[in-house]
Amino acid sequence: AQHFLARGQAHQGLGAFLATDEDVTLAQARAADQRLAAGDPAPLLGVPIAHKDIFVTRDFPSTAGSRMLAGYRSPFDATVVRKLAEAGTVTLGKLNCDEFAMGSSNENSAFGPARNPWDTSRIPGGSSGGSAVAVAARLAPAVTGTDTGGSIRQPAAFCGITGIKPTYGRASRYGMIAFASSLDQAGPMARSAEDCALLLSAMCGPDPDRDSTSLDLPAEDYTRGLGASLDGLRIGVPKEFFGEGLAADVRAAIDAALQQFVRLGARLVEISLPRTELSIPVYYIIAPAEASSNLSRFDGVKFGHRAAQYDDLVDMYRKTRAEGFGDEVKRRIMIGTYVLSHGYYDAYYLQAQKIRRMVADDFQAAFAQCDLIAGPVAPSVAWKLGGHGGDPLADYLADIFTLPASLAGLPGMSLPCGFGEGGLPVGLQLIGNYFQEARLLSAAHQYQ
Ligand code: GLN
Repeated sequence: AQHFLARGQAHQGLGAFLATDEDVTLAQARAADQRLAAGDPAPLLGVPIAHKDIFVTRDFPSTAGSRMLAGYRSPFDATVVRKLAEAGTVTLGKLNCDEFAMGSSNENSAFGPARNPWDTSRIPGGSSGGSAVAVAARLAPAVTGTDTGGSIRQPAAFCGITGIKPTYGRASRYGMIAFASSLDQAGPMARSAEDCALLLSAMCGPDPDRDSTSLDLPAEDYTRGLGASLDGLRIGVPKEFFGEGLAADVRAAIDAALQQFVRLGARLVEISLPRTELSIPVYYIIAPAEASSNLSRFDGVKFGHRAAQYDDLVDMYRKTRAEGFGDEVKRRIMIGTYVLSHGYYDAYYLQAQKIRRMVADDFQAAFAQCDLIAGPVAPSVAWKLGGHGGDPLADYLADIFTLPASLAGLPGMSLPCGFGEGGLPVGLQLIGNYFQEARLLSAAHQYQ
């Protein structure tokens, strides 16, 4: 813990951490030492990790990257945080992210962006940007992230690390500050599939009293199947993931990775996910719709920021939210409110829900032909800070390959598969059918 705290201090310029507290971390480390001495068999005893600042924690402030929650302290720990602590982890601090996890570059954080350690003039990806930076720069051996539309997979790809989003409902959302509840899912980010398997095993499991969408399935030990052979594994390659939008350098790295899987015994099968392109408009209707509802709780009354001066209650709400939320969050609240409003609900929200179902059905048709699906995580390597010039659409379009699995609730992961232009990391995405996390992790482990 001391080693990683010192590294964090030395590399503050990367903007990975939003909160650290040496006293808290070292107290947790000493407690872990005592458990170890007492023969406690907890699997992650003494392993220093850090949490995306979207998870609420008792021992550190929790901001979700928003001015709205600057300095906020939760009276309880998120279930994922609690489960990891029970497994023995020691918390190094809280990690930077896009405000309320809305973004693909970490530039939407109210506290400044995190920087890609491979080239600090570039974004690390988002929204779990600080998480990816911390692992890539060796400021933490492993971290947590959350993925609503790609926020674990894409920053993992841009920073050259491994990350997995499990099946929707596998990990409890209790204490994860809500963005889009039907999509939000927690997962680990680490240097290898093996480390991800260790963390994920501790993070998952039912939480019936606190998250009604958590699945009634016992936790699994994902490390058990890591040695499984890839002989005869059918890997589906969706042709829609290899269109003209895919940069040549990324394509070359993905093609080489697929050939490596063939050498390991897998067989490539061409498949089709015909609604891939529609995933963008569908996601950017459903996610803002849910966000507009979830974020109504930030009203200056219950917790978080409250405007200093106001005339009456409505004026207090208005000023509080105008001051507390950043531009992207406001944009989404407005889009979400619009698509849910009377007269537009049928045309936008309901329509999007119907297409969401078709996206999920397309995956089931594909999984009749293959065991896993492989493709790029993102159309390019990490872009320059400010490179999208504040154009939100440019960010949204770059989510094209991560959104389909999110809409379907499927598990997906990103693993490093070489380098593109400028020596920047490229990530390979693996998507599995429901509850196939073990298969994803073993395929990634064999490749690594
Ligand atoms: N980039 C997507 C968005 O901005 C996904 C974010 C996420 O997965 N949290 O909504």
